[in-house]
Amino acid sequence: CGVLGIYDKHLDIPRYIYWGLFALQHRGQESGGIALTDGQDIHTFRGMGLISTVFANGVPEEEGGPVGIGHVRYSTTGSNNPRNIQPLAVYTPMGQLALAHNGNLTNTRTLREELDRGGATFQTTMDSEIIVNLISRSQKDTIEERIMESMNRIQGAYSLVLMTKDTLYGVRDPYGFRPLCIGRTDEGGWVLASETCALDAIGAKFVRDVQPGEFVQINEKGVKSTIFAKAPRKQACSFEYIYFARPDSVIDGQDVYQARLNMGREMWNETQYDADIVISVPDSGNTAAIGYAQASGIPFKHGLIKNRYMGRTFIKPNQKQRELAVRMKLNVVKSVVKGKRIVMVDDSIVRGTTSGIICKLLHEAGAKEVYMCVSAPPIKYPCFYGIDTSVRKELIASTFSVEQIQKYIGVDKLHFISIDGLNRAVEHIPKEDMCLACFNNDYPTDTPQANEEGEKY
Ligand code: 5GP
Ligand code: SF4
Ligand code: MG
Repeated sequence: CGVLGIYDKHLDIPRYIYWGLFALQHRGQESGGIALTDGQDIHTFRGMGLISTVFANGVPEEEGGPVGIGHVRYSTTGSNNPRNIQPLAVYTPMGQLALAHNGNLTNTRTLREELDRGGATFQTTMDSEIIVNLISRSQKDTIEERIMESMNRIQGAYSLVLMTKDTLYGVRDPYGFRPLCIGRTDEGGWVLASETCALDAIGAKFVRDVQPGEFVQINEKGVKSTIFAKAPRKQACSFEYIYFARPDSVIDGQDVYQARLNMGREMWNETQYDADIVISVPDSGNTAAIGYAQASGIPFKHGLIKNRYMGRTFIKPNQKQRELAVRMKLNVVKSVVKGKRIVMVDDSIVRGTTSGIICKLLHEAGAKEVYMCVSAPPIKYPCFYGIDTSVRKELIASTFSVEQIQKYIGVDKLHFISIDGLNRAVEHIPKEDMCLACFNNDYPTDTPQANEEGEKY
């Protein structure tokens, strides 16, 4: 998901949140929304689909309050439910509160059972609703203390933006799985955003990242920071650098574009494939492919063209429909690939569907050999922290060896970046500070009591 919050007395808040969410659209396409205030009440404007669809009839009018937040929701299997749209707005004993959440909690079941026993009722299946319930039921005197107390009860991944009628809050979990940064507007206001590309989009200047375990309170007095918890180690999600974040963002001091170029270089060092051209699976493979081409001296070519009007193809009910969707989304430039030995670079193999179909298309177009390089190591274990690779039986690398995957997708050679190569590529994040759990099973927190099939909790 993507989150955004603005505190500014001069800006047209709804319009700026809309633009900011537009820049974060890659973090979630299922639904989205904006929460605004007139200085008394909080109102939400939410809907299914892309931000441009949700606000197809126009962006909400300014309500006069100095603060607003927004959210884009990432599609997770089976949760296509209009009730789960964020921001979530509730009445608490301390007044109205709205919240937008990026990440996944890992102790949801325990907290939910405890709240159920205490008579809480829930309208959604979102773990975010647990957070607002905890805040609402806290016995602390101030909203700030209530939020921080609640943060010490939840576990897992959360980057949050919250608002009351006059204050903006930001929180990042003690491991810092998901990004969250602070920016400044020209008018002297403040922005919280999942990625720096959203600051750029609305013309705000990057100030700093919210620190893991940090709580920030933003109002007319400026930013007040409190460290509410400290984790034994930081755990930035490595998949943000591989695939999820936009390449023009900088997260925790690491330029995402540079990290992807480095991944390409590392893969060249690890493979040294003798080939005629390097192509990428657009768009997610582009930067690593350029990195491979630069390091190797093999020319980069546009061997695959993406239809830019086509939505995501990731979740489709059966193999036939997935194939059709990939064919619709990607097409081969025959004159580029014919008779060539090709290095094809993509960011990840999840089920193996996309690469299998593309490989077939390349061979049909006369490619001589296809050597595939993947800038994520084999994804063998589910993610419990907000990336939708939680259904373990669908992860091809959880049951197939590299040789079996190579056979399955039909490429002539297959290489996954090594974990060491990945660590070197994300050069500004020390390796002990990076989460690699979906690759190496080293979960930094207790995992939810999911059953062996990896069923969603
Ligand atoms: P596969 O076909 O192997 O199941 O999926 C691999 C493709 O899905 C890659 O091209 C990768 O860029 C893309 N991908 C990886 N993770 C995600 C995700 O979380 N959402 C979407 N929409 N695509 C993803
Ligand atoms: Fe990111 Fe993988 Fe860790 Fe999930 S398990 S937070 S996808 S590195
Ligand atoms: Mg892709």
